[in-house]
Amino acid sequence: MNAMLLKLKEAGLKLTPQRMAIVREIADDLTHPTAQELFERLRPAFPTMSFATVYNTLDSLSRLGLVASLRLGGAKDGATTRFDPNTTPHHHAVCDACGKVVDLPAAHPTPASHKNEIEMTSGFNVRVEERTYRGLCAGCSKEKSLI
Ligand SMILES: [Zn+2]
Ligand SMILES: [Zn+2]
Repeated sequence: MNAMLLKLKEAGLKLTPQRMAIVREIADDLTHPTAQELFERLRPAFPTMSFATVYNTLDSLSRLGLVASLRLGGAKDGATTRFDPNTTPHHHAVCDACGKVVDLPAAHPTPASHKNEIEMTSGFNVRVEERTYRGLCAGCSKEKSLI
C-alpha cells in the first residue's frame, strides 16, 4: 500500500485523506470490487466523497499499473470494471449466480510454442494471458444441490 501511495505522489496526485483511504481499501482487497462497491464501503467514513473521486483514483492506479482493471462481468451492481490489487498474471473464476470472483494461480503458463502459434495465425502480439472460468462458486453450488 505504501508503494501505491508513493507512486501516486510521484505521478503528481495529491494524497488527500480520501485518496489514501481508497488506496488502503483496494490494496489488500482480493474480492475484485467495483468502484461502486468501494464507494459504498467508504461513504460512511467520508460522507462528502464523490463517486468520481473513487473512480478517478482507481483509474489512476490502474494507469500506473498498480491495480489491474478487469472486465469480467457478473458484478451484482452491473458495473463492467472490477479492480484487482494482484497485478501478477493469474486467472479468474467468476460465479454465474452471485458474481463472486476467485483468483486462480496461472500454474500452467502458455508454452512459448503456443504463443508463437497464436501470433503466427492471428498476427496478434500476445502481452499477457488471462483466462476466465465461469460456473458456480462453492457456496452457490452447495445451495443449488439443496434445492
Ligand atoms: Zn456464487
Ligand atoms: Zn484477480
